[in-house]
Amino acid sequence: MIPINSFKGKRVAVFGLGASGRATAAALEAGGAEVAAWDDLGNSVAIAIAAGLRTVDLREADWGDFDSFVLAPGVPLTHPEPHWTVKRAEAAGLEIIGDIEFFCRERQRNVPDAPFTAITGTNGKSTTTALIAHLLSFAGRDVQLGGNIGTAILSLEPPASGRHHVIECSSFQIDLAPGLDPSVGVLLNVTRDHLDRHGTIENYAQIKERLVAGADIAVIAVDDNWCQSVADRLARTGKKVVRISARRPLADGVYAENGTLYIAEDGASRPIASLDGIGSLRGRHNAQNAAAAIAAVRALGLGDAEIVEGLKRFPGLPHRMEEVGRRGRVLFVNDSKATNADATEKALSSFQRIYWIAGGRAKEGGIMSLVDYFPRVAKAYLIGEAAADFAATLGDTVPYEMAGTLEAATEMAARDVDRDNAAEPVVLLSPACASYDQFKNFEKRGDRFRALVAALDGVTARGKAA
Ligand code: ADP
Repeated sequence: MIPINSFKGKRVAVFGLGASGRATAAALEAGGAEVAAWDDLGNSVAIAIAAGLRTVDLREADWGDFDSFVLAPGVPLTHPEPHWTVKRAEAAGLEIIGDIEFFCRERQRNVPDAPFTAITGTNGKSTTTALIAHLLSFAGRDVQLGGNIGTAILSLEPPASGRHHVIECSSFQIDLAPGLDPSVGVLLNVTRDHLDRHGTIENYAQIKERLVAGADIAVIAVDDNWCQSVADRLARTGKKVVRISARRPLADGVYAENGTLYIAEDGASRPIASLDGIGSLRGRHNAQNAAAAIAAVRALGLGDAEIVEGLKRFPGLPHRMEEVGRRGRVLFVNDSKATNADATEKALSSFQRIYWIAGGRAKEGGIMSLVDYFPRVAKAYLIGEAAADFAATLGDTVPYEMAGTLEAATEMAARDVDRDNAAEPVVLLSPACASYDQFKNFEKRGDRFRALVAALDGVTARGKAA
């Protein structure tokens, strides 16, 4: 845990008692603050009480007594409407901050030179964060990984000289961290997402920009117009900007071309690593993630050889094009995190011959946008609520079976794929749908698929439950 000593003796209201809210309340108490923790959900309050936290019904509280207000990132700050606690905090003139802000203040106060890498972007945050942490660990560095992935930031070990904090930041967290000042900031991409919570894409992009604007070194992928203009703007202010791209060669920076990563500097470019054969980093989106990670760890002092060896050993994250089994030439891939067609497109574009398990609770537009990839699909196995709609979209172009359940789909696909003569046919779970009609969440769906594959005759299972 990272005790928040800079708030000793202060009175702090904390709203939103999920894992990160509870960690913040505990870290404040450990540092000597007087905490008033609360949540709209009685169950969350009960869990906080059981964890020994001091709870106060903030509806009844006198907000003039507080020095600061901590909001959990899942609670609306501005859109669609400020939460009632936000209105009360604003009326009382309180600062409204989150856990990342506390981390930044503690680091600044105690060990300002402790290496701190923060990663954001609409997509690829978790993969890039995990990859940076992996490369640093592989090179023997002391690494703490967390934030929006895995462990809440204040539940990690405290900043220390030579200890790396590698932290995934959502836009909600950045919004609550006015003092965000990483040594290395990484911005991957900005596309339309979460606009219900940020109002406009301009506002959303501005929030993302703050993470790199506050960094000593800004690593920015220049593959979309938003990020391109952020890079140009920051470079004009004299900030050290390292550009990366998975779409085109750069004169200066790190870029990917045909699966090879290049470093361009001092007027010359040289290959540093190939992604060929690295199953955890398939596809152009992962080339962007890899280029960003390479730029970040180079800025943190890693050498080429340790980067190249580390990349080859990146295990990847569960549920994101995760190889879960092999039977002869056949590969089984769990891409359960693909809850919309955009994400599934990444998987369909990464394999040539696909036995595709899809369906669940569909998003607007279904799988219409994926028609260009249908020629790669040998057969589809449709599950969940979306099955009939998806069948209508596949029409006569792709053979399909109405499998209904993941269990039936896996069995059918495993049966059919054995008759395929392709070099590496793939049974791919990439649902393009939310899981809630049949599973608690996408993790449970992916875990089930992994278990089903492991139970098939002759399969060598890979990966593990997350
Ligand atoms: P996040 O943490 O931002 O949600 P993840 O690393 O968990 O991102 O990846 C989630 C999904 O987003 C992946 O399964 C893939 O479909 C897609 N994705 C990953 N990286 C990128 C990227 N750099 N650009 C676009 N899409 C990506």
